[in-house]
Amino acid sequence: MKRTIATLAAATLAAGALTLPAHADRFEPAPGAPGLNDPLFPDLGNGGYDVRHYDVSFDFTPVTYDFAATVTIKATAVQDLSSFNLDTDGHLIDEVTVDGRPAAWALSPGRTGQELTVTPAEPLRNHRPFTAEVRLHGNGKAPRGGLTGWRFGPDGGFAAAVQASRADTFFPVNDHPSDKATWTFHMKVPEGYVATANGELTAKDGDVWRFEEREPMASELLGLAVVKGTYLYGTGPHALPLRHVVPQGQEEKYGPIAAETAGQIEWAEARFGRFPFSTYGVHIYPGYTDALENQTLSLFGTGWFTRPTYSNTMIHELIHQWFGDSVTPATWQDAWLNEGPAVYYAAVWAEEKGGEKLADKMRTVYGKLDAVRAKDGPPGRPKGLGGYNIYDGGALVLYALQKEIGERDFDRVMRRWVQRNKDGNASTEDFIAHAVKTTHRPGLDAFLRGWLYGETNPPLEIS
Ligand SMILES: [Zn+2]
Repeated sequence: MKRTIATLAAATLAAGALTLPAHADRFEPAPGAPGLNDPLFPDLGNGGYDVRHYDVSFDFTPVTYDFAATVTIKATAVQDLSSFNLDTDGHLIDEVTVDGRPAAWALSPGRTGQELTVTPAEPLRNHRPFTAEVRLHGNGKAPRGGLTGWRFGPDGGFAAAVQASRADTFFPVNDHPSDKATWTFHMKVPEGYVATANGELTAKDGDVWRFEEREPMASELLGLAVVKGTYLYGTGPHALPLRHVVPQGQEEKYGPIAAETAGQIEWAEARFGRFPFSTYGVHIYPGYTDALENQTLSLFGTGWFTRPTYSNTMIHELIHQWFGDSVTPATWQDAWLNEGPAVYYAAVWAEEKGGEKLADKMRTVYGKLDAVRAKDGPPGRPKGLGGYNIYDGGALVLYALQKEIGERDFDRVMRRWVQRNKDGNASTEDFIAHAVKTTHRPGLDAFLRGWLYGETNPPLEIS
């Protein structure tokens, strides 16, 4: 319920008679925290508000990499706020307003980029919705305080690959996976190029293409691109609209590969239920060397498709649409909940396609993981991101769980996990509680703790 000023005044008068909190009527604005105390990245994200929606206008000039952007952030204060921060890196800020009024702003160094501190003309009361708008310009190749989220192609364009925390190299943002929001993108499309963004392409207004991502998305999954590409369309299970972007002139080479996506979604849906978003596709780009699960539009470097096993990588990123994108880790320390399932199911897929047997792969992981635990931390408590512990180690935790409870219960745990936590955030502790509850096996609490937090692997027969 929303409290109006009038009901607050009435409550104050009656406070003697009612058991109201002692300071319910006080207005005590304070700065929002400059970080969310993520165990791996304490300065990432910002406290004091909750973003509901980002509206991003992005005007990019190919080859020179100059750009101008406006980001409009609809948020709600979660405390009385005198000022609040956004994460940013390497932009020239032109103007900041809050609810249409000019706001004071200042830049200071952050962990990897910078903190943009915004001081509204009037402090914001707790629970109050507000709109912050930042106008900025910059250059995609300008130096950044940290790594960049920009990937540059031979076509003079770019694709965004911002995981874990480099959305702030495109525009100011609350750059932590726990603050998911819906998004609108207005991408100005230069002559000879196409634009991409997460969600559905809903309008073309002259040279501005509008994309709507109506399902909540973490900023780490930002899928912006301006490239010399071709849109290819398809249909997935239950008429799911598919749209892919492949390099211009290479439609014959990449069209059949993109078309494999429909069957891959069907394979995954048999395990987890419906695809969690209203559209999906693959973006294949020569300016990228890795693969990344950007929400609704996974990004792949062209190099993957010279390997006969490329579909394992496509499955990996597809599985992330459920594990990582729809269900997003509460903190970066929970990242095995993304990578464990992606590696595990890609290995199941690989075995089905005549590749390495899952058991053989897991035997190898079992042999290596103790040393990795000692050096980089166990899967559920990694010291950093991107390591073997959260990828193959996370998959081994799931394999051990499957061996412990049997395939039927395991399938139920995984399917219900993505259904229960759809569009939300969840932690390792949530997963342990969920596994116990779903299977009615209290012993799984100690079992999973051993695998996730232990200094060494628990015993496991792999036959
Ligand atoms: Zn992954």
